[in-house]
Amino acid sequence: MSQIPNSLPSYLQADQLGPWGIFLQQVERVTPYLGELSRWVDTLTRPKRILIVDVPIHMDDGSVAHFEGYRVQHNTSRGPGKGGVRFHQDVTLSEVMALSAWMSIKNAAVNVPFGGAKGGIRVDPRQLSRGELERVTRRYTSEIGLIIGPTKDIPAPDVNTNEQVMAWMMDTYAMNLGENSTGVVTGKPIELGGSLGRRDATGRGVFTVGQEAAARTGLELKGARVAVQGLGNVGSVAARLFAEAGSRVVAVQDHGGTIYQGAGIDIPALIEHARHNGSVLGFPGAEAIAKDSFWDVDCDILIPAALEQQITAANAGRIKARLVIEGANGPTTPEADDILHQRGVLVLPDVIANAGGVTVSYFEWVQDFSSFFWTEEEINARLVRIMREAFASVWQVAEQHQVSLRTATFIIACQRILRARELRGLYP
Ligand code: NAD
Repeated sequence: MSQIPNSLPSYLQADQLGPWGIFLQQVERVTPYLGELSRWVDTLTRPKRILIVDVPIHMDDGSVAHFEGYRVQHNTSRGPGKGGVRFHQDVTLSEVMALSAWMSIKNAAVNVPFGGAKGGIRVDPRQLSRGELERVTRRYTSEIGLIIGPTKDIPAPDVNTNEQVMAWMMDTYAMNLGENSTGVVTGKPIELGGSLGRRDATGRGVFTVGQEAAARTGLELKGARVAVQGLGNVGSVAARLFAEAGSRVVAVQDHGGTIYQGAGIDIPALIEHARHNGSVLGFPGAEAIAKDSFWDVDCDILIPAALEQQITAANAGRIKARLVIEGANGPTTPEADDILHQRGVLVLPDVIANAGGVTVSYFEWVQDFSSFFWTEEEINARLVRIMREAFASVWQVAEQHQVSLRTATFIIACQRILRARELRGLYP
């Protein structure tokens, strides 16, 4: 019998603990719980498809600039790829691979019929004019146009991309195709087939799982002190909903700085302030504190809703919260996860906590296909139901196996993905 060439390609090897390395560790942890399905587990350690593209554009000054873009389809066993597109100067292939894999897990955890995918461009959009941003978006969309589509892979917003970027992506794809194709992206403006409730969906999901966890652990939301990192799409909505439930948001950090106000920050006013000033800094009534002091803030609930690898071995021991709700993707390193676990801090992992966005993206995609649009009440009610059901299953599996909520979510999701893989079989 010939030797089976089964070693990992170099770009898949985790020689350093980047985001992809973290994902591989998570898969390793869950493998003992997969029973017979573990024979398929290597499927998860190799993305199905990786596309690296050059994105050249004319700059306003007449020069030509090149940006590196990626689209990774991690797994499509359960349905078309689904996941956001991130514009950030530090985006790497390892990061996009990990984010695409977490999308596979997330979509399976809430049981929406999607696989996992993610995209990104190494660009700082703050350095671009609106025209340059549009040209980068359209050229990137054309370059990845080969592999995206309503039944192939459906992008959505992520860090530094928004409804306008989705409108340009949809228009570019439709122009190249020569027909309308609203279902190619989600997170679109309402006027172009977007869904009511999508803008708030991720933050609403964060709040919903927070409510569930608080109820199960005897934490009263009214009066609870909350610290939020990131006041973007996810952080601002989560902060607002906790504040509306009577919690006190005592600290907020964004890329510009960190503010603290023990009596509770007026969140709608802060959102307005950040919109006008570009950052939370300088918000009247709140004191500016050092970036690193954010992790020492006395609070009951901590919501990282900015970037990955923020809670590390260096700060996990200092966190005062009883509950950490991961609004961001991959904000906690595995080492920090263990430290929090040992200290009895309950972590609601990203793969379930921030799944509200993709859940309403699923609703948007369904509405686009049927060209029949639902009310916001209907959408929010369905979202809350799905999040509660998913959370209850995760809680039950965690108790059954005495594992963390993260491992429990991975157990449920990996079983669903690998069962689909097994049923489909290998072609040819
Ligand atoms: P966003 O661009 O709207 O906001 C990002 C926020 O993070 C901003 O307030 C920014 O100032 C802050 N930030 C950036 N760098 C920072 C730093 N170094 N320190 C502190 N704050 C920093 O992005 P978003 O859509 O809210 O996404 C936030 C996170 O949530 C990301 O990890 C994203 O992948 C994840 N997520 C987003 C969605 C969604 O629907 N938008 C869904 C699931 C997961």
